[in-house]
Amino acid sequence: MTDTAVASAYDDLTADLVATSGETVTVIAPFTGEPLVELPQSSETDVASAAEAAREAQVAWFAAGAAYRREVLLRGHDLLLERRRTLLDLNQLETGKTRAQAFEEVVQAANTARYVALTAPALLRPQRRKGVLPVVTRASVDYVPKGVIGIITPWNYPVSLAGMDVLPALAAGNAVVQKADNQAALSVLALRRAFVDAGVPEALWSVVAGPGDTVGNAVVDVSDYVCFTGSTATGRKVAERAARALHGASLELGGKNPIIVLDDADLEKAAAGVAFGAFSALGQLCVSMERVYVERGIADAFIPLLVERVKALHQGPALDYSTDVGSLTSAAQLERVEAHVSDAVSKGATVLAGGTRREDLGPFFYEPTVLTDVTPDMSCFAGETFGPVLSVYIVDDEDDAIRRANDSEYGLNASVFSRSLTRAHAVARQLDAGIVNLNEPYRAAFGSVDAPMGGMKASGLGRRNGPEGILRFVDTRTIGEATVLFQMPRTGREMEQLLPVVMTLLKTMRTLRLR
Ligand code: NAD
Repeated sequence: MTDTAVASAYDDLTADLVATSGETVTVIAPFTGEPLVELPQSSETDVASAAEAAREAQVAWFAAGAAYRREVLLRGHDLLLERRRTLLDLNQLETGKTRAQAFEEVVQAANTARYVALTAPALLRPQRRKGVLPVVTRASVDYVPKGVIGIITPWNYPVSLAGMDVLPALAAGNAVVQKADNQAALSVLALRRAFVDAGVPEALWSVVAGPGDTVGNAVVDVSDYVCFTGSTATGRKVAERAARALHGASLELGGKNPIIVLDDADLEKAAAGVAFGAFSALGQLCVSMERVYVERGIADAFIPLLVERVKALHQGPALDYSTDVGSLTSAAQLERVEAHVSDAVSKGATVLAGGTRREDLGPFFYEPTVLTDVTPDMSCFAGETFGPVLSVYIVDDEDDAIRRANDSEYGLNASVFSRSLTRAHAVARQLDAGIVNLNEPYRAAFGSVDAPMGGMKASGLGRRNGPEGILRFVDTRTIGEATVLFQMPRTGREMEQLLPVVMTLLKTMRTLRLR
């Protein structure tokens, strides 16, 4: 399964981890169930020393200026594309996803690198702002990097998710200490290596690996701001810990993403879109869809088309573009998916497609599964499966679809299929979701690196992507100055004398609508 170039990359990459505990963890390759790598583990002391070195490196990185950082990040972009083959291999071998989905990760990271490199310098330039009253004072705003950003990433989309947090943090002049998930550390290290070879100082972006409740906690403690991507349950713990230290945090958490197929949709395109959106990375993607709401009038025509599309997905462990869906990433994921499906079936759900393991393909392969007759007492009704299980619901009309789509603790991604963009936009505006995709399940919004991405409700706090995704990494410092033209009143008498002038000024500004 592995070629020698990839295998020899393991040693080089694991040497880049800040990990001196002497312990290792055996990472299992999902395609085969065989050991992939013995991954060194970090200690809390490693996190502290990485943060100390990062803090030192950050001073010079910020002082080098925005234009310098721009050029380094653009060179990193180029190296990332040049080295994509090794990165794609590593990513597939660690996560079990297909080549196409691994390539989507590289595209997202490259887009982010280019965007933040070219956006941050102008966005973070000092700005003039209006003073208290014209002539009397002036104000300006500096954007100051927060310092050391702690970034905790999951195993499912290591390259794009690390890229979307680390690269804007660096572009804004910060250093990063990242805790990679053991299952996806090699991909993160390969991404980092491209940027280090492009000129990012080694100590400016450290990667550690280890258990969440020790190494993860230590990352939160040493950081000035925390980015966490993972489950809602862990996100709450991270948020509590960061809040105690009065550190800000952005949290990208779970979802139970709905897709609405309206009765004027192109049914062939909608079936292909739903099949793609539900089973990308075999459903192990935060923005993949787990619920589809179909208007009653088209249900009889649409559901068979969807089932046909899902059954036609080609599944397998190929390190090329020949498959449409791959493997689940771990035994724990397989267990969770099987539990959700057997719970649903035992309570009366009907399996329209899939519903079984594919041990003939590999130990963690599970078929893309479509269920109907799913009811609120089943664990897959409201709980995130994070796997290849899609529930189909027939709804009375558009309002019923919107109400049911919003009836969730989550609010990450949603999608609407309709031939009328006016109608689709109107529905989108009523959905509780941080991103909504029209006639596409997730890539239109998720991939728009100029537009913010994140969750409403229990799906998260804060945003990545867009100017919002860069501004979370800076503090503002407002500098106000009293002009020499006018002395601000210091005493009660001076204020009394100025009162008519101030009153006239306030009223004039209101009349002229001067902000
Ligand atoms: P997880 O919460 O178990 O782990 C995520 C990361 O947090 C891992 O690196 C883990 O080691 C670390 N961690 C665990 N406990 C910690 C603690 N107490 N303190 C600090 N760090 C800790 O999530 P997972 O199972 O790896 O990922 C799947 C989940 O992530 C799903 O719920 C999925 O929806 C979500 N996710 C969300 C997004 C998004 O952008 N919203 C993206 C990808 C995944």
